[in-house]
Amino acid sequence: MNSATPLLVNDLHSQLNPTRVTRILAPSGSAEIAAAIDAASAASAQLSISGSRHAMGGQQFGTDTWLLDLRRHATIRHFDTERGLVTADAGIEWPALIAGCAALQLPTASPMWGIRQKQTGADRLTLGGALAANIHGRGLRLPPIVGDVEAFTLVGPDGLARSCSRSVHSDLFRLGIGGYGLFGVISEVTLRLTPRVPVERQVEILTLDELVRVPTERDTTDWLYGDFQYSIDERSPDFLQRGVFSAYRRCAEPLPSHDPTQRQLDDSDWEELLWLAHTDRAKVWDVYSSFYLSTQGQRYWSDTHQLSVYPDNYHVALDRRLGSPCPCSEMISELYVPRPALREFMGRAADLLRSGATPVIYGTIRLIERDSETLLAWAREPWACIIFNLHCEHTPTGLARAAGAFRALIDLALAFGGSYYLTYHRWATRTQVEAAHPRFREFLAEKQARDPAERFTSDWYRHHRDLFAAT
Ligand SMILES: Cc1cc2nc3c(=O)[nH]c(=O)nc-3n(C[C@H](O)[C@H](O)[C@H](O)COP(=O)(O)OP(=O)(O)OC[C@H]3O[C@@H](n4cnc5c(N)ncnc54)[C@H](O)[C@@H]3O)c2cc1C
Repeated sequence: MNSATPLLVNDLHSQLNPTRVTRILAPSGSAEIAAAIDAASAASAQLSISGSRHAMGGQQFGTDTWLLDLRRHATIRHFDTERGLVTADAGIEWPALIAGCAALQLPTASPMWGIRQKQTGADRLTLGGALAANIHGRGLRLPPIVGDVEAFTLVGPDGLARSCSRSVHSDLFRLGIGGYGLFGVISEVTLRLTPRVPVERQVEILTLDELVRVPTERDTTDWLYGDFQYSIDERSPDFLQRGVFSAYRRCAEPLPSHDPTQRQLDDSDWEELLWLAHTDRAKVWDVYSSFYLSTQGQRYWSDTHQLSVYPDNYHVALDRRLGSPCPCSEMISELYVPRPALREFMGRAADLLRSGATPVIYGTIRLIERDSETLLAWAREPWACIIFNLHCEHTPTGLARAAGAFRALIDLALAFGGSYYLTYHRWATRTQVEAAHPRFREFLAEKQARDPAERFTSDWYRHHRDLFAAT
């Protein structure tokens, strides 16, 4: 699919990045990717690269660029059942990768391999997007996805494909993961899998102090995954202080092939929860926590339990039902703080957000281990990761309010020696970017040295380049 007319594209969740691109190219296969880069060079055109369009600060789009939409480039190329390595095109989305890995193994295989981690809260995101942001899931003791990557192929601004691993082109390995598509197209990825095991969900209401003690107090080999959804009711003393912790512990019992008593939330349940989160935040906490408590003991596979429901475009129906005078959506931010500081950070975040001017619609806390490999590593320490989904009105006042709230949260995280995730909005000030990502200037210098013509660009990159160029 190629288009020659100017087109408007946007991100999926916040819908706050409408961007006009001049062409959309949807290559499939390495030869078509290289040909697209060559064609752009010949036309002196700049390229932006998109996967499934979940980033929220214009990382995947560049105004007046040719957009390379990678989603058609999505085949599993190789499966090494001895070593547990799968090689797939970077445009593949998680459901296809997970199902493809299962289909390529005998049901009696031992071990049966599965993915170690993916994003939570949405499934239809690409492997290329996962590497480019260096994503994380809900592992209780995992570093970001760089730890799961054996190798990848990067097609650079010169149109040449290079294999990148810890031993070959290791400089590009460190830049491409977490590189937001600025060093070339990640065309194939070899992912390290892990033996797929049955896990049992354990649900408890915890305080923040109890949460940070989980990795040290519980059997580290069996408690594999978990996240903590905190109370979003700004009128309650529990606001941002208590949460429902759903953890997944390895279990010995095999899974039944079908369990009719298994309870799960579908699209319409999520839509109802999202409605309540906008209209009655005390009730949504009761409904959500009671639901999760009622699923105590349910069993899953360690890979497929990470799949979740995301109702596409849910805010359009919500705006109609709310009678909203303007379009609205949620903007996400993820803040990082040292784990011992979590309670104090959340207490001060509660003070900031208690007025309800930018309501918290959804929020979770997860844990991350250190990434010592990528250049722009965000997981610089074993941090607590706090995700805020704030309601955002698409008006100048609404956007200014949301940007102000997120800047205040970033300042708060910085005051505790923490940081924030670059994959969401681009509302941080230069001082905040520099403090949270001390190697950002070096990252920009690497970009400028390796791609002086800026063949690969994005509005997110242009914004940061200009921010750092300003005196
Ligand atoms: C509802 C929701 C839930 C989320 N949950 C999580 C979570 O749990 N954990 C987490 O870490 N993140 C999470 N994210 C953020 C998300 O993982 C990242 O934004 C991710 O990069 C999006 O992948 P994508 O396929 O949608 O890529 P896009 O948004 O299309 O692109 C993101 C970046 O990847 C680059 N890119 C994409 N494909 C390639 C490629 N083949 N080669 C080179 N560069 C490429 C783009 O240029 C861009 O810089 C969430 C986002 C949303 C909206």
